Amino acid sequence: MMQEKIDQAEKDLLHTYNRYQIILDKGEGVHLYDADGKEYLDFCAGIAVFALGYHYKDFDDALKAQIDKLMHTSNYYYNEPAIEAAHKIKSISGMDRVFFTNSGAEAIEGAIKAARKYAYLKDGQTDHEIIAMNHSFHGRTMGALSVTGNPKYREAFQPMIGNIRFADINDIDSVKAQINEKTCAILLETVQGEGGIYPAEEAFLKELRAICDEKDILLILDEIQCGMGRCGAYYAWQRFGVKPDIMTTAKALGGGVPVGAFLMTEKVGAHSLVAGDHGTTYGGNPFAAAAICKMIDLFEQDHIIDHVNSIAPYLEKKLDELAARFDCIKARRGVGLMQGLVFDKPVGDIIQKALKKGLILINAGADILRFVPPLVITEDDIDRMISILAECIED
Ligand SMILES: *Cc1c(COP(=O)(O)O)cnc(C)c1O
Repeated sequence: MMQEKIDQAEKDLLHTYNRYQIILDKGEGVHLYDADGKEYLDFCAGIAVFALGYHYKDFDDALKAQIDKLMHTSNYYYNEPAIEAAHKIKSISGMDRVFFTNSGAEAIEGAIKAARKYAYLKDGQTDHEIIAMNHSFHGRTMGALSVTGNPKYREAFQPMIGNIRFADINDIDSVKAQINEKTCAILLETVQGEGGIYPAEEAFLKELRAICDEKDILLILDEIQCGMGRCGAYYAWQRFGVKPDIMTTAKALGGGVPVGAFLMTEKVGAHSLVAGDHGTTYGGNPFAAAAICKMIDLFEQDHIIDHVNSIAPYLEKKLDELAARFDCIKARRGVGLMQGLVFDKPVGDIIQKALKKGLILINAGADILRFVPPLVITEDDIDRMISILAECIED
């Protein structure tokens, strides 16, 4: 039954993903169920999206109530959920101005435009440069792809948007080597996700901040994957107090509703995008904004970030034990509930085996297993995950 539908999908969908051969049908807490009713423990969370787990009643009820009221207007009018969501996201991020998008890539596009406009207003020139990082991932649209530090993703789609340079995360000299009088922004993920779970170090971020302050370069932090509590603070930069000039957020922000946002300080807000410069039909519509509002409310009500900080050391400990037990695991990297195990070979087989045993895992690059579970996981869930994973590695 499931196979028939999968065969159908393979005829109809553009083959841009090598999909695992299951149809996911429903979710409950940290578990997913396929169309045959088989249960899976989910350590992927829709790629760091389902922070509160599946079928969270208060969240679902809030969405249903908004559907019955008003789903969409236009950004030519105000709507109450968006007014509220803007205020809430300001208060959790400490940023001053927000623009809502429908996805992460669109948040990056907006961030790039804001940075370019800021520089343009300073000198009237259009030749400004952005420094991004190797191993970075910022999305698949042309602007976001242009700042993504993986040549394989960019190759066939040249030319990219111009004036992008690349440096290495946690290597301040490599960044300095790319800076010149045309540099308008430095863009990085506070914790690199797709590229292999590389956290930016505190000292590196602080040096970047100092350089940006000195030269009036904008620091743009991409918090699309590492933000919304995953790293033990609403936004990962808050752990170090290194505040960006522009920040992007998405993934967990909408709890499964496709939303994103880019935010900026008042300094950038007052000297960049103005009426007519940027827009979106759906971004911040009442339905999407209601999702953001309820997510933030539930984070507060259920003390989600406290939970991340209390459970993450347990996950780290268990992953470290696993790394000590198996020679094929070379290292663990990560922050909070965003962790990676580095193997000495591709992890595709392990992921396939885990799936058969009812555990959903994903990779981040060929050799790295990535752990981005719902933020509400418990020690029991972690124990169960580790025991299945150990079996898969042993095989
Ligand atoms: C997923 C991701 C994006 C792109 O977000 P989409 O919603 O897929 O467009 C950008 N940056 C980072 C760090 C991401 O993890």
